[in-house]
Amino acid sequence: MNIQAPLSKIKLLNPEFPNKSTGIINGQSSGLLNWNDIAYPQMYDLYQTLLSNFWKAQEINMQDDIKQWDHLSEKEQDVFLRINTQLASLDSLQTPTMTQAMDYVTDSSFKAIFAVIAQQEAVHNESYSYILSSLVPLREQNDRFNQAKEDPIVQKRNQLILDAYEQFRQSPTPQHLFKLAINSINLEGIYFYAGFAFFYNLARQQKMLKTSTMISYIQRDEMQHAYFVCQFVRILLSENPELNNEENIQYVYDCIHEAVQLEKEWAHYILADIDGIELEEFEQYVEYLANKRLRQLGLSNLFEEKENPMPWIHVFSDEMINETKSDFFEQKSRTYTKVTQSNGFDEL
Ligand code: ZN
Ligand code: ZN
Repeated sequence: MNIQAPLSKIKLLNPEFPNKSTGIINGQSSGLLNWNDIAYPQMYDLYQTLLSNFWKAQEINMQDDIKQWDHLSEKEQDVFLRINTQLASLDSLQTPTMTQAMDYVTDSSFKAIFAVIAQQEAVHNESYSYILSSLVPLREQNDRFNQAKEDPIVQKRNQLILDAYEQFRQSPTPQHLFKLAINSINLEGIYFYAGFAFFYNLARQQKMLKTSTMISYIQRDEMQHAYFVCQFVRILLSENPELNNEENIQYVYDCIHEAVQLEKEWAHYILADIDGIELEEFEQYVEYLANKRLRQLGLSNLFEEKENPMPWIHVFSDEMINETKSDFFEQKSRTYTKVTQSNGFDEL
């Protein structure tokens, strides 16, 4: 296979081909999805997990947060609004990108998962608008969304991702799909976390708990997405040994390393004067996340092995991944999807 040759969009229906695709890309596939006849049966578990995470913004009543909003400091309010729209700017890229990837993947079960992820990204986007519309007047909502577009540091960190996504749009080759996937892992598995840390830090002080509940649902989704894309990359590389070359493996390390630097830079900018967040600790946390993503990809740690330096963020991951635990914020029982050994969620 030529990894620089454009992938073609497969016809909708190809009755002469099997339902079980012969490849994740460039495969022969009828286009008919039968979940009981797929190349990677563990993808059905993943699909189920994604579906059972279904939520929507309007289920969360913002009244408590609306009351608390005026009691936040001016600084807290400003950072809150900046982070909210900055996260929205990241999520805005994901819906169309996942949809586009879906077009070029030939395995129908992967198409279905990309479709579900795209839907969840649309919900994430809506939730940022929903939070903002609960707290500030329309004019400020609009101004804040524009602020996210113009902020040079936001632009700088998003550029890395945008370049890879845009490259695939212009030239959808296997090589560009690989790079898109690595950047998607950065977006979902590293870039969100300075923002998440800010909201969880407020929650630790019993502030804006409804917003944090929503953020925790977004984090739960993003963990699954990043995990899925890691699996996608592993399958892509093992099915297409031409992609599994030294240069591409080096690209993974370099690209994740750069995302770590950009996330640290962003944290220093946005979280500088926030009580309760130690920037040095956050830097360690970002490295801890990067190591985790690399292990999910089957690669080695880029940074010194470490325990989670911000266990108060880890609490949320555990709450969300384990079978049944009480919701950290609302203190009422919530059942989460069972995680099976076979799909390797221990690395989440
Ligand atoms: Zn998202
Ligand atoms: Zn996502």
